[in-house]
Amino acid sequence: MAKIQMTTPLVEMDGDEMTRILWKMIKDELLLPYIDLKTEYYDLGLEYRNETNDQVTVDSAEATKKYGVAVKCATITPNAARMTEYNLKEMWKSPNGTIRAMLDGTVFRTPIIVKGIEPCVKNWEKPITLARHAYGDVYKNTEIKVDKPGKAELVFTAEDGTEIRELIHDFKGAGIIQGIHNTDKSIASFAHACFKYALDTKQDLWFATKDTISKKYDHNFKDIFQEIYDAEYADKFKEAGIEYFYTLIDDAVARVMKAKGGFIWACKNYDGDVMSDMVSSAFGSLAMMTSVLVSPTGVYEYEAAHGTVQRHYYKHLKGEETSTNSVATIFAWTGALRKRGELDKNDDLVTFADKLEKATIKTIEDGKMTKDLALITSLKDVTVLNSENFIKAIRETFDAM
Ligand code: NAP
Ligand code: MG
Repeated sequence: MAKIQMTTPLVEMDGDEMTRILWKMIKDELLLPYIDLKTEYYDLGLEYRNETNDQVTVDSAEATKKYGVAVKCATITPNAARMTEYNLKEMWKSPNGTIRAMLDGTVFRTPIIVKGIEPCVKNWEKPITLARHAYGDVYKNTEIKVDKPGKAELVFTAEDGTEIRELIHDFKGAGIIQGIHNTDKSIASFAHACFKYALDTKQDLWFATKDTISKKYDHNFKDIFQEIYDAEYADKFKEAGIEYFYTLIDDAVARVMKAKGGFIWACKNYDGDVMSDMVSSAFGSLAMMTSVLVSPTGVYEYEAAHGTVQRHYYKHLKGEETSTNSVATIFAWTGALRKRGELDKNDDLVTFADKLEKATIKTIEDGKMTKDLALITSLKDVTVLNSENFIKAIRETFDAM
Protein backbone atom coordinates (compact mmCIF):
# COMPACT_ATOMS: atom_id res chain seq x y z
CA MET A 1 0.00 0.00 0.00
CA ALA A 2 1.21 3.53 -0.79
CA LYS A 3 2.35 5.54 2.20
CA ILE A 4 0.29 8.50 3.40
CA GLN A 5 1.75 11.78 2.17
CA MET A 6 2.08 14.95 4.27
CA THR A 7 2.10 18.51 2.98
CA THR A 8 3.32 20.43 6.05
CA PRO A 9 5.98 19.16 8.45
CA LEU A 10 5.29 18.44 12.10
CA VAL A 11 7.72 19.94 14.57
CA GLU A 12 9.33 16.92 16.23
CA MET A 13 10.97 17.46 19.63
CA ASP A 14 12.97 14.44 20.70
CA GLY A 15 13.70 13.93 24.39
CA ASP A 16 15.47 11.89 27.05
CA GLU A 17 15.97 8.50 28.68
CA MET A 18 13.31 5.77 28.39
CA THR A 19 10.88 7.95 26.47
CA ARG A 20 13.61 8.63 23.87
CA ILE A 21 13.95 4.86 23.41
CA LEU A 22 10.14 4.51 23.05
CA TRP A 23 10.11 7.46 20.64
CA LYS A 24 12.31 5.64 18.13
CA MET A 25 10.40 2.36 18.51
CA ILE A 26 7.08 4.14 17.89
CA LYS A 27 8.41 5.84 14.78
CA ASP A 28 9.99 2.66 13.39
CA GLU A 29 7.10 0.30 14.11
CA LEU A 30 3.95 2.41 14.01
CA LEU A 31 4.57 5.49 11.86
CA LEU A 32 7.30 5.14 9.23
CA PRO A 33 5.86 1.96 7.64
CA TYR A 34 2.59 3.81 6.92
CA ILE A 35 3.39 7.51 6.55
CA ASP A 36 5.89 9.38 4.46
CA LEU A 37 6.62 11.24 7.68
CA LYS A 38 7.60 14.87 7.24
CA THR A 39 9.03 16.44 10.38
CA GLU A 40 11.32 19.29 11.28
CA TYR A 41 13.48 17.58 13.89
CA TYR A 42 14.76 19.23 17.09
CA ASP A 43 16.82 17.25 19.53
CA LEU A 44 15.75 18.38 23.00
CA GLY A 45 17.76 15.59 24.62
CA LEU A 46 19.72 17.12 27.50
CA GLU A 47 23.13 16.61 25.86
CA TYR A 48 22.20 18.65 22.82
CA ARG A 49 20.39 21.30 24.88
CA ASN A 50 23.63 21.70 26.82
CA GLU A 51 25.72 21.81 23.65
CA THR A 52 23.55 24.57 22.15
CA ASN A 53 23.16 26.52 25.43
CA ASP A 54 19.48 25.57 25.24
CA GLN A 55 19.07 27.47 21.96
CA VAL A 56 17.53 24.32 20.45
CA THR A 57 14.56 24.61 22.82
CA VAL A 58 13.93 28.20 21.76
CA ASP A 59 14.32 27.23 18.08
CA SER A 60 11.83 24.38 18.47
CA ALA A 61 9.26 26.73 20.04
CA GLU A 62 9.80 29.23 17.19
CA ALA A 63 9.27 26.44 14.67
CA THR A 64 6.06 25.46 16.49
CA LYS A 65 4.78 29.02 16.09
CA LYS A 66 5.65 28.84 12.40
CA TYR A 67 4.10 25.45 11.56
CA GLY A 68 1.37 25.34 14.21
CA VAL A 69 1.71 21.74 15.40
CA ALA A 70 4.46 20.03 17.42
CA VAL A 71 4.93 16.65 19.10
CA LYS A 72 7.26 16.48 22.09
CA CYS A 73 8.99 13.62 23.87
CA ALA A 74 9.45 13.87 27.66
CA THR A 75 12.63 15.69 28.65
CA ILE A 76 14.81 15.94 31.74
CA THR A 77 14.44 19.11 33.79
CA PRO A 78 17.95 19.50 35.19
CA ASN A 79 18.54 19.48 38.95
CA ALA A 80 21.76 19.21 40.99
CA ALA A 81 22.12 15.47 40.29
CA ARG A 82 21.74 16.00 36.52
CA MET A 83 24.43 18.71 36.58
CA THR A 84 27.03 16.05 37.44
CA GLU A 85 25.42 13.22 35.48
CA TYR A 86 25.47 15.20 32.23
CA ASN A 87 28.36 17.54 33.06
CA LEU A 88 26.13 20.56 32.35
CA LYS A 89 27.37 24.10 31.76
CA GLU A 90 24.30 25.48 33.51
CA MET A 91 21.16 24.22 35.23
CA TRP A 92 19.04 24.76 32.10
CA LYS A 93 15.41 25.65 32.62
CA SER A 94 12.59 23.16 32.08
CA PRO A 95 11.99 22.93 28.29
CA ASN A 96 8.27 22.75 29.00
CA GLY A 97 8.47 26.01 30.95
CA THR A 98 10.39 27.71 28.13
CA ILE A 99 8.00 26.47 25.44
CA ARG A 100 4.93 27.34 27.53
CA ALA A 101 6.21 30.87 28.12
CA MET A 102 6.95 31.38 24.40
CA LEU A 103 3.60 30.03 23.24
CA ASP A 104 1.66 31.64 26.13
CA GLY A 105 -0.36 28.47 26.34
CA THR A 106 -2.77 26.54 28.49
CA VAL A 107 -2.17 22.86 29.23
CA PHE A 108 -5.03 20.41 28.66
CA ARG A 109 -4.74 16.91 30.15
CA THR A 110 -7.11 14.07 29.30
CA PRO A 111 -7.14 10.46 30.52
CA ILE A 112 -7.21 7.71 27.89
CA ILE A 113 -10.11 5.42 28.73
CA VAL A 114 -9.90 1.66 28.18
CA LYS A 115 -12.20 -1.14 29.29
CA GLY A 116 -10.51 -3.02 32.07
CA ILE A 117 -8.86 0.04 33.61
CA GLU A 118 -11.77 1.48 35.56
CA PRO A 119 -11.76 4.88 37.25
CA CYS A 120 -12.06 4.80 41.06
CA VAL A 121 -15.10 7.08 40.71
CA LYS A 122 -17.63 4.63 39.33
CA ASN A 123 -19.95 7.16 37.67
CA TRP A 124 -17.12 8.61 35.50
CA GLU A 125 -18.00 7.18 32.09
CA LYS A 126 -16.19 9.67 29.91
CA PRO A 127 -12.85 11.46 30.29
CA ILE A 128 -12.58 14.68 32.28
CA THR A 129 -10.13 17.11 30.70
CA LEU A 130 -8.27 19.42 33.06
CA ALA A 131 -7.30 22.85 31.69
CA ARG A 132 -4.70 24.45 33.91
CA HIS A 133 -3.75 28.12 33.80
CA ALA A 134 0.03 27.99 33.81
CA TYR A 135 0.92 31.52 34.93
CA GLY A 136 1.06 33.43 38.20
CA ASP A 137 -0.82 33.28 41.52
CA VAL A 138 1.03 31.35 44.21
CA TYR A 139 3.64 30.13 41.64
CA LYS A 140 5.00 33.67 41.34
CA ASN A 141 4.56 34.73 44.94
CA THR A 142 6.48 37.00 47.30
CA GLU A 143 6.50 35.96 50.93
CA ILE A 144 7.60 37.44 54.24
CA LYS A 145 7.85 35.72 57.61
CA VAL A 146 7.57 38.29 60.40
CA ASP A 147 8.69 37.72 63.96
CA LYS A 148 7.46 40.87 65.70
CA PRO A 149 4.44 43.18 65.89
CA GLY A 150 3.94 45.52 62.93
CA LYS A 151 1.72 46.58 60.08
CA ALA A 152 1.57 44.70 56.77
CA GLU A 153 0.29 46.72 53.81
CA LEU A 154 -0.40 46.09 50.13
CA VAL A 155 1.02 48.99 48.11
CA PHE A 156 0.68 49.67 44.39
CA THR A 157 2.75 52.56 43.02
CA ALA A 158 1.65 53.59 39.54
CA GLU A 159 4.13 54.87 36.96
CA ASP A 160 2.64 58.33 37.43
CA GLY A 161 3.55 58.18 41.11
CA THR A 162 0.05 57.76 42.52
CA GLU A 163 -0.39 55.13 45.18
CA ILE A 164 -2.99 52.62 46.34
CA ARG A 165 -2.49 51.34 49.87
CA GLU A 166 -4.48 48.65 51.71
CA LEU A 167 -3.93 47.29 55.18
CA ILE A 168 -3.35 43.53 55.15
CA HIS A 169 -2.98 42.98 58.87
CA ASP A 170 -1.89 44.68 62.05
CA PHE A 171 0.37 42.03 63.56
CA LYS A 172 0.49 41.75 67.35
CA GLY A 173 3.14 39.03 67.09
CA ALA A 174 4.82 36.64 64.65
CA GLY A 175 3.12 35.65 61.40
CA ILE A 176 3.33 35.22 57.64
CA ILE A 177 2.49 37.39 54.61
CA GLN A 178 2.15 36.50 50.93
CA GLY A 179 1.78 38.66 47.81
CA ILE A 180 0.55 37.18 44.55
CA HIS A 181 -0.51 38.56 41.16
CA ASN A 182 -1.84 37.76 37.75
CA THR A 183 -2.32 39.84 34.59
CA ASP A 184 -5.48 40.48 32.57
CA LYS A 185 -3.52 39.51 29.46
CA SER A 186 -2.59 36.08 30.78
CA ILE A 187 -6.10 35.42 32.11
CA ALA A 188 -7.58 36.41 28.74
CA SER A 189 -5.18 34.04 26.93
CA PHE A 190 -6.23 31.28 29.30
CA ALA A 191 -9.91 32.01 28.61
CA HIS A 192 -9.44 32.02 24.82
CA ALA A 193 -7.49 28.76 24.93
CA CYS A 194 -10.27 27.11 26.99
CA PHE A 195 -13.14 28.35 24.81
CA LYS A 196 -11.30 27.34 21.62
CA TYR A 197 -10.49 23.90 23.00
CA ALA A 198 -14.10 23.35 24.06
CA LEU A 199 -15.27 24.19 20.53
CA ASP A 200 -12.52 22.06 19.02
CA THR A 201 -13.47 19.00 21.05
CA LYS A 202 -17.23 19.78 21.28
CA GLN A 203 -17.33 19.49 25.06
CA ASP A 204 -18.90 21.68 27.75
CA LEU A 205 -16.52 23.98 29.61
CA TRP A 206 -16.65 24.38 33.39
CA PHE A 207 -14.75 27.13 35.18
CA ALA A 208 -14.61 27.75 38.89
CA THR A 209 -12.91 30.12 41.33
CA LYS A 210 -13.63 31.38 44.84
CA ASP A 211 -15.06 34.76 43.82
CA THR A 212 -17.37 34.99 46.85
CA ILE A 213 -14.35 35.23 49.14
CA SER A 214 -11.83 36.78 46.73
CA LYS A 215 -14.08 39.58 45.55
CA LYS A 216 -11.47 41.30 43.37
CA TYR A 217 -8.79 38.74 42.54
CA ASP A 218 -10.87 35.67 41.72
CA HIS A 219 -13.76 37.83 40.60
CA ASN A 220 -11.49 39.26 37.92
CA PHE A 221 -10.98 35.76 36.49
CA LYS A 222 -14.73 35.21 36.44
CA ASP A 223 -15.41 38.59 34.77
CA ILE A 224 -12.75 38.19 32.09
CA PHE A 225 -14.04 34.73 31.17
CA GLN A 226 -17.62 36.01 31.00
CA GLU A 227 -16.76 39.11 28.92
CA ILE A 228 -14.77 37.07 26.40
CA TYR A 229 -17.47 34.41 26.26
CA ASP A 230 -20.26 36.92 25.64
CA ALA A 231 -18.30 38.86 23.05
CA GLU A 232 -16.75 36.06 21.01
CA TYR A 233 -17.97 32.58 21.87
CA ALA A 234 -21.62 32.53 23.04
CA ASP A 235 -23.00 32.10 19.50
CA LYS A 236 -20.40 29.52 18.53
CA PHE A 237 -21.11 27.48 21.65
CA LYS A 238 -24.83 27.54 20.90
CA GLU A 239 -24.17 26.41 17.36
CA ALA A 240 -21.96 23.56 18.59
CA GLY A 241 -24.56 22.55 21.19
CA ILE A 242 -22.19 22.98 24.11
CA GLU A 243 -22.35 25.01 27.31
CA TYR A 244 -20.10 27.34 29.32
CA PHE A 245 -20.77 26.92 33.01
CA TYR A 246 -19.29 28.97 35.87
CA THR A 247 -19.56 27.98 39.52
CA LEU A 248 -17.66 28.17 42.81
CA ILE A 249 -14.65 25.87 43.13
CA ASP A 250 -16.10 23.89 46.06
CA ASP A 251 -19.34 23.41 44.17
CA ALA A 252 -17.37 22.33 41.09
CA VAL A 253 -15.46 19.71 43.08
CA ALA A 254 -18.71 18.29 44.46
CA ARG A 255 -20.31 18.21 41.01
CA VAL A 256 -17.26 16.59 39.38
CA MET A 257 -17.53 13.65 41.78
CA LYS A 258 -21.16 13.11 40.76
CA ALA A 259 -20.72 13.79 37.04
CA LYS A 260 -20.46 11.33 34.15
CA GLY A 261 -17.44 13.11 32.63
CA GLY A 262 -17.10 14.30 29.06
CA PHE A 263 -16.32 17.97 29.81
CA ILE A 264 -13.41 20.34 30.25
CA TRP A 265 -12.66 21.66 33.72
CA ALA A 266 -10.73 24.92 33.64
CA CYS A 267 -8.78 25.62 36.82
CA LYS A 268 -6.64 28.43 38.16
CA ASN A 269 -2.96 27.52 38.49
CA TYR A 270 -3.01 26.00 42.00
CA ASP A 271 -6.41 24.34 41.61
CA GLY A 272 -5.19 22.83 38.33
CA ASP A 273 -2.02 21.48 39.92
CA VAL A 274 -3.94 19.73 42.68
CA MET A 275 -7.01 18.64 40.70
CA SER A 276 -5.09 17.25 37.71
CA ASP A 277 -3.18 14.88 39.98
CA MET A 278 -6.44 13.83 41.62
CA VAL A 279 -8.27 13.31 38.32
CA SER A 280 -5.38 11.46 36.65
CA SER A 281 -4.81 9.03 39.52
CA ALA A 282 -8.54 8.44 39.90
CA PHE A 283 -8.64 7.51 36.20
CA GLY A 284 -5.88 4.93 36.70
CA SER A 285 -2.40 5.93 35.58
CA LEU A 286 -0.17 8.84 34.55
CA ALA A 287 0.98 6.68 31.65
CA MET A 288 -2.58 6.87 30.28
CA MET A 289 -2.81 10.65 30.25
CA THR A 290 -2.44 12.88 27.20
CA SER A 291 -1.29 16.46 27.43
CA VAL A 292 -1.54 19.27 24.90
CA LEU A 293 -0.40 22.86 25.14
CA VAL A 294 -2.70 25.19 23.22
CA SER A 295 -1.78 28.80 22.56
CA PRO A 296 -4.39 31.56 22.24
CA THR A 297 -3.41 31.91 18.57
CA GLY A 298 -4.22 28.24 17.94
CA VAL A 299 -0.79 26.61 18.05
CA TYR A 300 -0.66 23.04 19.44
CA GLU A 301 2.08 21.07 21.17
CA TYR A 302 1.30 17.43 22.06
CA GLU A 303 3.15 15.33 24.63
CA ALA A 304 2.74 12.62 27.27
CA ALA A 305 1.87 13.78 30.78
CA HIS A 306 4.57 11.63 32.41
CA GLY A 307 8.34 12.16 32.59
CA THR A 308 11.29 10.33 31.06
CA VAL A 309 10.78 7.21 33.26
CA GLN A 310 14.36 7.34 34.53
CA ARG A 311 14.16 4.18 36.68
CA HIS A 312 13.21 2.06 33.65
CA TYR A 313 15.96 3.67 31.56
CA TYR A 314 18.67 2.66 34.04
CA LYS A 315 17.35 -0.91 33.88
CA HIS A 316 17.42 -0.69 30.08
CA LEU A 317 21.04 0.53 30.18
CA LYS A 318 21.98 -2.47 32.32
CA GLY A 319 20.51 -4.72 29.64
CA GLU A 320 17.51 -5.66 31.77
CA GLU A 321 14.04 -5.99 30.28
CA THR A 322 11.64 -3.07 30.71
CA SER A 323 7.87 -2.90 30.47
CA THR A 324 7.32 0.80 29.92
CA ASN A 325 3.91 1.99 28.79
CA SER A 326 4.13 3.88 25.49
CA VAL A 327 0.42 4.76 25.19
CA ALA A 328 0.67 8.44 26.17
CA THR A 329 3.60 8.94 23.78
CA ILE A 330 1.73 7.19 20.95
CA PHE A 331 -1.26 9.46 21.64
CA ALA A 332 1.02 12.50 21.53
CA TRP A 333 1.92 11.46 17.98
CA THR A 334 -1.65 10.66 16.94
CA GLY A 335 -2.89 13.94 18.45
CA ALA A 336 -0.31 15.89 16.46
CA LEU A 337 -0.87 13.94 13.24
CA ARG A 338 -4.66 14.36 13.52
CA LYS A 339 -4.33 18.11 14.10
CA ARG A 340 -1.87 18.40 11.18
CA GLY A 341 -4.33 16.43 9.04
CA GLU A 342 -7.25 18.67 10.07
CA LEU A 343 -5.32 21.86 9.32
CA ASP A 344 -4.09 20.56 5.96
CA LYS A 345 -7.42 18.90 5.06
CA ASN A 346 -5.51 15.62 4.84
CA ASP A 347 -8.21 13.03 5.61
CA ASP A 348 -5.84 10.08 5.27
CA LEU A 349 -3.71 11.42 8.08
CA VAL A 350 -6.75 11.99 10.32
CA THR A 351 -8.05 8.47 9.61
CA PHE A 352 -4.63 7.01 10.32
CA ALA A 353 -4.44 8.78 13.70
CA ASP A 354 -7.93 7.59 14.67
CA LYS A 355 -7.12 4.01 13.67
CA LEU A 356 -3.81 3.88 15.51
CA GLU A 357 -5.53 5.08 18.69
CA LYS A 358 -8.23 2.44 18.27
CA ALA A 359 -5.59 -0.25 17.70
CA THR A 360 -3.72 0.85 20.83
CA ILE A 361 -6.86 0.67 22.97
CA LYS A 362 -7.96 -2.63 21.43
CA THR A 363 -4.56 -4.21 22.13
CA ILE A 364 -4.99 -3.44 25.84
CA GLU A 365 -8.64 -4.50 25.85
CA ASP A 366 -7.55 -7.79 24.23
CA GLY A 367 -5.42 -8.36 27.33
CA LYS A 368 -2.00 -7.38 25.98
CA MET A 369 -0.44 -4.64 28.09
CA THR A 370 2.57 -3.35 29.99
CA LYS A 371 3.21 -4.12 33.64
CA ASP A 372 1.85 -0.86 35.08
CA LEU A 373 -1.59 -1.62 33.62
CA ALA A 374 -1.47 -5.36 34.37
CA LEU A 375 -1.19 -4.41 38.05
CA ILE A 376 -4.46 -2.44 38.04
CA THR A 377 -6.61 -4.06 35.38
CA SER A 378 -9.87 -5.88 36.08
CA LEU A 379 -9.34 -8.03 32.96
CA LYS A 380 -8.54 -11.72 33.36
CA ASP A 381 -5.97 -13.65 31.28
CA VAL A 382 -3.61 -10.76 30.80
CA THR A 383 -0.31 -11.03 28.91
CA VAL A 384 2.38 -8.69 30.26
CA LEU A 385 4.59 -7.49 27.44
CA ASN A 386 7.95 -5.74 27.45
CA SER A 387 8.31 -2.22 26.03
CA GLU A 388 9.13 -3.36 22.52
CA ASN A 389 6.68 -6.25 22.27
CA PHE A 390 3.80 -4.05 23.41
CA ILE A 391 4.47 -1.71 20.49
CA LYS A 392 4.77 -4.70 18.16
CA ALA A 393 1.45 -6.04 19.47
CA ILE A 394 -0.18 -2.71 18.61
CA ARG A 395 1.22 -2.99 15.11
CA GLU A 396 -0.30 -6.46 14.75
CA THR A 397 -3.69 -5.20 15.91
CA PHE A 398 -3.41 -2.23 13.55
CA ASP A 399 -2.53 -4.41 10.56
CA ALA A 400 -5.40 -6.77 11.36
CA MET A 401 -7.81 -3.82 11.42
P1 NAP B 1 8.28 9.85 35.59
O1 NAP B 1 9.22 9.77 34.47
O2 NAP B 1 6.91 10.31 35.26
O3 NAP B 1 8.21 8.44 36.30
C1 NAP B 1 7.84 8.22 37.65
C2 NAP B 1 7.38 6.79 37.84
O4 NAP B 1 6.06 6.65 37.31
C3 NAP B 1 8.20 5.76 37.10
O5 NAP B 1 9.35 5.38 37.81
C4 NAP B 1 7.19 4.66 36.89
O6 NAP B 1 6.96 3.93 38.09
C5 NAP B 1 5.92 5.43 36.62
N1 NAP B 1 5.75 5.74 35.19
C6 NAP B 1 5.73 6.97 34.60
N2 NAP B 1 5.53 6.86 33.29
C7 NAP B 1 5.43 5.54 33.02
C8 NAP B 1 5.22 4.79 31.84
N3 NAP B 1 5.09 5.40 30.65
N4 NAP B 1 5.17 3.44 31.91
C9 NAP B 1 5.29 2.81 33.10
N5 NAP B 1 5.50 3.48 34.27
C10 NAP B 1 5.56 4.82 34.22
O7 NAP B 1 8.82 10.86 36.69
P2 NAP B 1 10.27 10.97 37.35
O8 NAP B 1 10.96 9.65 37.37
O9 NAP B 1 10.02 11.68 38.60
O10 NAP B 1 11.06 11.93 36.40
C11 NAP B 1 12.04 11.50 35.47
C12 NAP B 1 12.49 12.70 34.65
O11 NAP B 1 11.39 13.18 33.89
C13 NAP B 1 12.97 13.87 35.49
O12 NAP B 1 14.26 14.26 35.04
C14 NAP B 1 11.96 14.98 35.23
O13 NAP B 1 12.58 16.23 35.13
C15 NAP B 1 11.36 14.59 33.92
N6 NAP B 1 9.95 15.01 33.69
C16 NAP B 1 9.64 15.47 32.46
C17 NAP B 1 8.35 15.81 32.14
C18 NAP B 1 8.07 16.30 30.75
O14 NAP B 1 8.94 16.39 29.92
N7 NAP B 1 6.83 16.58 30.43
C19 NAP B 1 7.34 15.67 33.09
C20 NAP B 1 7.68 15.17 34.35
C21 NAP B 1 9.00 14.83 34.64
P3 NAP B 1 7.77 2.58 38.49
O15 NAP B 1 9.19 2.98 38.58
O16 NAP B 1 7.15 2.23 39.81
O17 NAP B 1 7.53 1.55 37.43
MG1 MG C 1 1.48 18.66 40.72
